[in-house]
Amino acid sequence: MSKNRWVRKETNMYDHIIVGAGSAGCVLANRLTEDPETSVLVLEAGGNDDLPAIHDPAATTTLRQSAVDWAYSTEEEPHLNTRKISVPRGKVLGGSSSINFMVYVRGNRADYDQWQALGNQGWSYADVLPYFKKIENYEGRASDYRSRGGPLTVTDLPSIDPLTEAFIEAGEELGWPRNDDPNGASQEGFGTFQLTIGQGKRQSTAVGYLHPAQSRPNLTVWTQTLTTRVLFEGTRAVGVAYLKDGIEQQVRVKKEVILSGGAINSPQLLLLSGVGPADQLQALAIPLVADVPGVGHHLQDHLGIEMYFKTKPSFTQFGTISEGVAFVKTQPDLAEPDIELMLSPFFLFPVAPGNGYSVTIVLVTPQSQGHVTLRSTDPTKPPAIYANYLAHETDQQKLINGIKLARRLSQTTSLAHFTDVEALPGSQAQSDREILEYVRENARSIDHFTGSCKMGHDDLAVVDDQLRVHGVEGLRVVDASIMPTTVRGNTNAPTIMIAEKGADLIANKPFLNTLAGAEPDDKPLNITCLTLRYKVIVGSFTSVGTTSGGKMMQAFSLVWLCKAFLFVKRRFFPPSEQPTCAKDVVTWRDPLRFTHTAVNMLHCWPAADGSEQR
Ligand SMILES: Cc1cc2nc3c(=O)[nH]c(=O)nc-3n(C[C@H](O)[C@H](O)[C@H](O)COP(=O)(O)OP(=O)(O)OC[C@H]3O[C@@H](n4cnc5c(N)ncnc54)[C@H](O)[C@@H]3O)c2cc1C
Repeated sequence: MSKNRWVRKETNMYDHIIVGAGSAGCVLANRLTEDPETSVLVLEAGGNDDLPAIHDPAATTTLRQSAVDWAYSTEEEPHLNTRKISVPRGKVLGGSSSINFMVYVRGNRADYDQWQALGNQGWSYADVLPYFKKIENYEGRASDYRSRGGPLTVTDLPSIDPLTEAFIEAGEELGWPRNDDPNGASQEGFGTFQLTIGQGKRQSTAVGYLHPAQSRPNLTVWTQTLTTRVLFEGTRAVGVAYLKDGIEQQVRVKKEVILSGGAINSPQLLLLSGVGPADQLQALAIPLVADVPGVGHHLQDHLGIEMYFKTKPSFTQFGTISEGVAFVKTQPDLAEPDIELMLSPFFLFPVAPGNGYSVTIVLVTPQSQGHVTLRSTDPTKPPAIYANYLAHETDQQKLINGIKLARRLSQTTSLAHFTDVEALPGSQAQSDREILEYVRENARSIDHFTGSCKMGHDDLAVVDDQLRVHGVEGLRVVDASIMPTTVRGNTNAPTIMIAEKGADLIANKPFLNTLAGAEPDDKPLNITCLTLRYKVIVGSFTSVGTTSGGKMMQAFSLVWLCKAFLFVKRRFFPPSEQPTCAKDVVTWRDPLRFTHTAVNMLHCWPAADGSEQR
């Protein structure tokens, strides 16, 4: 950017500046301004969301490569026959939630327990479930996992195609359960999509969160405003520079700058601001603010591949939207699903004459990781994206297995009734090598980029579990980029959850009550725990033993007994079931429950302010 450009300074100061009004940014804008004493400025590079196609679910595909799409692409992907893969991202109020396919999937409980197991306190499934419940106004069947009255309406499909029903029955034939709610007690099995659609219209976060808050005097939203860098004094973020109408301007912040630009733009902005790998910044002559080697690394996405089946000539066209969804394990010994299957009762892309259906096989547990980096110091130029799909051999094999599984589904009695012939990949792709070649040539992004500013405490972590950027002050990242590992499922709902929880972290509010949101089966246990916690702690010191020496012995015995059980569990149980904090222990279901309850009591003492200490 030209140094001679006039730099204007905005005189107003805001408590918080949020960069990006996307899935996460809109949530933050709403929640933070619930407090009338807190002023918030939101800077959005795109414009208003008044384009009718944004709100018409049937027009979604027209938004790709349009004015509301950043329309990025990856660099040549070495394991996809050097193809460049299209990377759409919403550039408008609502961000990608204004252009996405509105599929509402929370992910698997194991995803969040894994986040916690990686050292991110407060991000276990039990911790995040209350935030998922806070988001939604779910119009489907009530359950303890679901909720009504939240800002985003989530609906079940009003009716389904016979082909979709056959897909679910095909799953049952192969031994999977029919699952009416993959966002409920269990994710595994065959069912139908839930969508962020209300009264026939898209429920973006702009619709659900931002617009209802926009009349608040403490919320200011500037559209068509590209943030170009974060301003620092030493290592403290004090504001941002932005481009509006070709003029660079600056605005200062009282408390914190929050980056919610998404998994491509947030790392770009950190790098432009001098926060990132020192060698990379040096090479571009960007003054170093903090050497944070992980910025832009650990990029993950879900890769998907379509299969096409022609239907028998007696059948005419079925539906027009993807309806069926299944979460399945490609190996019986896996603890959780690794593949998501999507059934479209029509040809998703017109690949063959006549009618048919498509099955999209999505790898939801990719091991491959890519990175985002700067192409230049010009903030108006797109960053370079290296998704590095299929770099890991496991990922290749899982997609091969997924294709074989979809083939088996098509051959079940339920689907064979409709199926004429497999159009693609077809009979020429039989061996693993041939199937893999079909994947390399045809796989596409499912648009679920995450992880480029990952949360954690290892060398490549960018934010801590409070979402504060390592090495600097007054700066957080709150969006899909902070996911330490990607989730098994679509990423909009998890990003909104991150923002709901992030808002509580920023406002320093107590977290939503874990126990209230915990699993229904565990509620009685939790209530018992609360009572027992005090009874046992008090009891072990007062009513057990008659002499003071006896009491001490009892207390020590209890501690060592608990430690022994923890040791056994750590040694012999898989990581996904490890108790990493007291709350996990409380909700963990096994025959040793009482012991874990006791461990919980010893690890989780009530603090003076009533919160729980770990
Ligand atoms: C085409 C498509 C289809 C998808 N389908 C689904 C689906 O069906 N279900 C699902 O769960 N997920 C889906 N996803 C993924 C999901 O929508 C995203 O994971 C999620 O929206 C990411 O939210 P975010 O807040 O991280 O980023 P975004 O929602 O992308 O928000 C980032 C915002 O920041 C703005 N911004 C960026 N840089 C700057 C800057 N420098 N200055 C100012 N503003 C800036 C952007 O314009 C944007 O508005 C899809 C995504 C796409 C693109």
